[in-house]
Amino acid sequence: MAYQISDDCISCGACAAECPVSAISEGDGKFVIDADACIECGACAGTCPVGAPQN
Ligand code: SF4
Ligand code: SF4
Repeated sequence: MAYQISDDCISCGACAAECPVSAISEGDGKFVIDADACIECGACAGTCPVGAPQN
């Protein structure tokens, strides 16, 4: 199952820079993950300062 970004996101953008398939983009009030593109590598979760990406 693809990772999802929770409402804890503070829109810092760090995860988007780390995603190897560019699946993360800025959404309305938080960043969002394209579930069809995510390969579940976990890099976003490892980078996020607030633990917002979860699977
Ligand atoms: Fe990108 Fe990996 Fe996070 Fe999926 S788990 S959004 S592929 S960094
Ligand atoms: Fe949001 Fe975390 Fe990504 Fe920053 S690294 S944009 S807080 S999900």
